[in-house]
Amino acid sequence: MGGGDSGSSLGPRLGMHVSISGGMDRMAERARDYGCEAVQIFSRSPRGGKARALSAEEVAGARSVLEAADVRPLVVHTPYFANLVAGDKDLRRYAVETVAEDLHRASELGSPYVVTHVGRPAPDLHPEAARELAAESLSSVLRAQGGTGGVILLLENTAGSEREMGASLEDLAGLLGRVEAGFPGRLGVCLDTCHAHAAGYDLSRPAGVRRFIDLALELFGPERVRVVHANDSLAAAGSRLDRHAPVGAGTIGESGFRALLGDPRLRGCPFLVETPGTDEERARDLERLRRLRQAAGGGETAGGEETGR
Ligand SMILES: [Zn+2]
Ligand SMILES: [Zn+2]
Repeated sequence: MGGGDSGSSLGPRLGMHVSISGGMDRMAERARDYGCEAVQIFSRSPRGGKARALSAEEVAGARSVLEAADVRPLVVHTPYFANLVAGDKDLRRYAVETVAEDLHRASELGSPYVVTHVGRPAPDLHPEAARELAAESLSSVLRAQGGTGGVILLLENTAGSEREMGASLEDLAGLLGRVEAGFPGRLGVCLDTCHAHAAGYDLSRPAGVRRFIDLALELFGPERVRVVHANDSLAAAGSRLDRHAPVGAGTIGESGFRALLGDPRLRGCPFLVETPGTDEERARDLERLRRLRQAAGGGETAGGEETGR
């Protein structure tokens, strides 16, 4: 499609979550064929069990296809079963191992980022104790990561449904600060627009979008905000319900997405579509996002190309 840098000069790079069925090399071909400029994957079956070892050919194949098509970055999302604040000690250890392993797999794949949710604490756990537990687990993950290359672990904001941690940007920033002291430069943030909107940061109008980005940059610092999950929301702002809608058709809507895509401060972050369903369905959302990026206008023009507005 737009092809590499001509896309990014008109706004952020756009991509989507792509299935890894058939192997990493097939994933890379699909990402290229759908016109992704960036891509997100699960590094393993999201249903659990032991992760299949990645073969050297598969990894080399994927890396060369992504490089040739200039699809970057490749982002790895940890499986949802990984609950870093689980009440059960064994489950918590399993989550730490899983996230640490994903950091290692990401580095094998040449991916700079692993995105994870913090998790859901037991209902009777005091919020401060939950934060303590989260900081402990995240520190264990980063310690275990050892020398597996400079992959950065991104914490994702959530909708806050079913006690999930990370709905408040202030809380997330507090957690980041606690852990980061021991591991400078190893943590960052992934902003999910559907989750933010559902958590009460109304993104349906440009003013709300501006306020949200102001706050995120103030709390985390621009260098920590690395990835955006570009999802629309089926539920109302502040509903705390995590239900994704097709891009532009939800309660964030086209005006919200135009403001997000047009804000120069997020231009360096890939925008990734995660609408549930098949790759083909997500590709339709990616196409909508592309049209909205064009409508948002960007500021600069790609070499010789007229953009008008
Ligand atoms: Zn996520
Ligand atoms: Zn997300």
